[in-house]
Amino acid sequence: MLIENARIVTPTGVMARGWVLCREGKIAAIGEGTPNPTLSQERLNAKGELLLPGFIDVHVHGSDGVDTMDATPESLRQMSRFYGQHGVTSFLATTWTDTQERISAALEAIRSTRDAMALEEPQGAQLLGAHLEGPYLNPVKGGAQNLDLIRQADPIEALPWLDLDVIRLLSLAPEFAENQWLIETCVARGITVSIAHTDANYEEALSAIQQGVTHSTHTFNAMPPLLHREPAVLGVVLNDRRVRCELIADLVHVHPAMIRLLWQIKKPDGLILITDAIRATGLPDGDYPVDTRVIQVREGIARLPEGALAGSTLTMDRAVYRFMQTIGEPLEMLWPVTSRNAANAIHMGHRKGTIEIGKDADLVLVNAQTVTVHWTWVGGTPVYSTPLE
Ligand SMILES: [Zn+2]
Repeated sequence: MLIENARIVTPTGVMARGWVLCREGKIAAIGEGTPNPTLSQERLNAKGELLLPGFIDVHVHGSDGVDTMDATPESLRQMSRFYGQHGVTSFLATTWTDTQERISAALEAIRSTRDAMALEEPQGAQLLGAHLEGPYLNPVKGGAQNLDLIRQADPIEALPWLDLDVIRLLSLAPEFAENQWLIETCVARGITVSIAHTDANYEEALSAIQQGVTHSTHTFNAMPPLLHREPAVLGVVLNDRRVRCELIADLVHVHPAMIRLLWQIKKPDGLILITDAIRATGLPDGDYPVDTRVIQVREGIARLPEGALAGSTLTMDRAVYRFMQTIGEPLEMLWPVTSRNAANAIHMGHRKGTIEIGKDADLVLVNAQTVTVHWTWVGGTPVYSTPLE
């Protein structure tokens, strides 16, 4: 399959009019100008639209009426298809704080569905594994997590989860001594650890980074504010080049001025757009169940009845658009926050996140001004397309 007449974003710059050849799921060749007609029978004329690495969402719970915690292959497959329609080519299904049984069931469903999907023709975004968000958090900064079920890390519970070999990212509050063994255990196994739902002070956060935390979950949300005499978690994660910061760019969770500040500090490699999208994403306003509680969505904003924000109804294409509008720079400059940085964060940069020969042919063709998704390819297979003008 050959994509021609595209503006192509590569790690070394933008090709004004280029082509990409995909073969056996990988990017086989990239070139400028008019491709040799013998290269491929199957061709798509991109009509000058922008070709980017497919978006990668490492923090997403659900969409379209379904959720990771349903713990079913059907829900995960439906999420995969939905995300593919919004330019996402791979994702981590993200769990919530819940009982041991329910989290185990969710992780097992993610593992078996990931393995089954890997043998099939892609129909949506690739399920790369799990992001375990909780239950080892701080209830003081619990947000919409179930406070009754937040607990400290017990090896009898957590080690079998790690043994499933499905978790790629694990969000925890590092200020509890009981949680600290898990940081080093994860790092030794290649699982990225993120500071999350935390009330850590500056020293506690610094010590977490020294132990191997390299990621910050929905930065600014569910953590203490940045104060000039009490810099706390933000004083560490903003300063330290080793830490990549997730951001929910719906302009509700974080003020645009703070988004611009985060970009100034972390550009280009340290910021990762996520959606934190929930079950209600893609559906109208209404009341949606989460564990035994309810999330109320009004004008697209998801909250618990008490008022706490409860994830978002963002899709990645809208997140990218809003981020671009907020920063005021073109997508050609901002693209690493949609793909490369996430791939690197979860140790998948050798396979994903850039348009380079030998990488997985995970690609998205968008309108550079509106971030409207025209085509999404996962491993070279189209999983979404709309007619090009
Ligand atoms: Zn979340």
